[in-house]
Amino acid sequence: MTDGADGGTGGAVPGAVRVRFAPSPSGDLHVGNVRTALYDWAFARRTGGTFVLRIEDTDQTRVRPEYIESALDTLRWLGLDWDEGPGADGPYGPYLQSERLPVYAEWVSRFLADGHAYHCYCTPEELAQRRAAARAAGGPSGYDGHCRQLTPEQVAAYQAEGRRPVVRFRMPAGSTTFTDLVRGEVTFDHAHVPDFVLARADGAPLYTLAVAVDDVLMEITHVVRGDDLLSSTPRQLAVYRAMGVPDERFPVFAHLPYVLGPDGKPLSKRNGVVSVSWYRDEGFLPEAMGNYLALLGWSPGENRELFTLADLAAEFDLARVNKNPAQFDARKLEAINGDKIRELKPADFAGRITPFLARAGLVADPPAAAQAELIAAAAPLIQERIGRLAEAPAMLGFLFTGEDEFTVDSGDAARAFNGEAGQALAAAGEVLAGLPSWDTAAIEAALREALVDKLGLKPRAAFGGAVRVAVTGRRVGPPLFESIELLGRERTLGRLQRGMDLAATGI
Ligand code: GLU
Ligand code: ZN
Repeated sequence: MTDGADGGTGGAVPGAVRVRFAPSPSGDLHVGNVRTALYDWAFARRTGGTFVLRIEDTDQTRVRPEYIESALDTLRWLGLDWDEGPGADGPYGPYLQSERLPVYAEWVSRFLADGHAYHCYCTPEELAQRRAAARAAGGPSGYDGHCRQLTPEQVAAYQAEGRRPVVRFRMPAGSTTFTDLVRGEVTFDHAHVPDFVLARADGAPLYTLAVAVDDVLMEITHVVRGDDLLSSTPRQLAVYRAMGVPDERFPVFAHLPYVLGPDGKPLSKRNGVVSVSWYRDEGFLPEAMGNYLALLGWSPGENRELFTLADLAAEFDLARVNKNPAQFDARKLEAINGDKIRELKPADFAGRITPFLARAGLVADPPAAAQAELIAAAAPLIQERIGRLAEAPAMLGFLFTGEDEFTVDSGDAARAFNGEAGQALAAAGEVLAGLPSWDTAAIEAALREALVDKLGLKPRAAFGGAVRVAVTGRRVGPPLFESIELLGRERTLGRLQRGMDLAATGI
């Protein structure tokens, strides 16, 4: 339960809370959606309540079925399990709004019958004209109530013209005040809340109708969602009232602060990467994504920045959500990702990089037994060194590339294969060829003696230069001696020889 700082409304009796996440599948879930989902989920878990997933897919012009799948997939990936929703049928289903159209139609008829709604015959052109005129006169530019009181003759005339009406909600005069668990008391003057469309001429319900009807019918107690929806709240409250719900049974609202990009504008495709599946593809761990996104507006106190989903579920408190916008910081996300990568058990880490190696074509999918073994052996070499799993193929590619395909990075080669490179490569090849035991310690001792003691190279030049580039293909990568051990003697000697050839031809 939350403590009293939220005015008492956020700490409902355990078991009674019903909170929903209600994405519209018109694109991949973005950072802001997922932050909302995390808070919805955490609030439900913290209070012992129910987390409801409702898909708001009534807008057939924008919705695509594959986005429903990808949204579910992203939530599962993050570990945000829902108690009711697609695939988890509960007593309030169906949970896809497209399967609930008769419910909305029923409420539209009731509202038309009891006067909460009316038919509006205005054409888009007429609306635009009157809006422009109102704006020019300095008045409010929303719907002007033109069709509120049409006479039967006017209606007949419109119908004779073949006009098909939309259904508008008759917004009462006055104002709406409610206590938002994050923002405190919020008031909207209805002068700025014009009559809005509930259903299109073809009967399709609009968001404001469907969201309000479902929050009531699904007995939602808490609406925790983004600030971008704040201005739709007075409309929703008016619909609840029209449905006959007493004010004290209204859900409690909590509007979460905007997530801003680096330029201080709301995070969008223009100033950052918003699609959570992109981060997944780049090798951000769900543990890191959940941790970082939760920090956008909340923290567990004592300045702790690293926590788990379980910690979030145990400690999340709406009363401590920040009112101020949060700034998305990709570098911080990456730092947290690095920390979470380091925390993984080695076998777990190996399992996580495997799909990335497979996607890069370095191993089969699933990997053959020998490949899996090599992955397990190589994974510890990079676990301390990468910030995203997607870096693994470049770091480990040299091990999984056959000798026919292996190439060295030409830029790195140009810098490394100069001066004494040929000599160093030859010395390394010679000492490794005769090494009695092939293990990291022996390899290191032999190379140190040959390159540092005998040739007089500085360790950085000896182990970071020509030998490293020849063997691994790049200047940056996993530790050299371990890499050589895993690569094996034959392949290592072959690559040193090829390095000598390259150095000799003067790259
Ligand atoms: N479906 C709405 C959206 O994705 C959110 C509805 C709500 O949370 O009230 O923008
Ligand atoms: Zn009208």
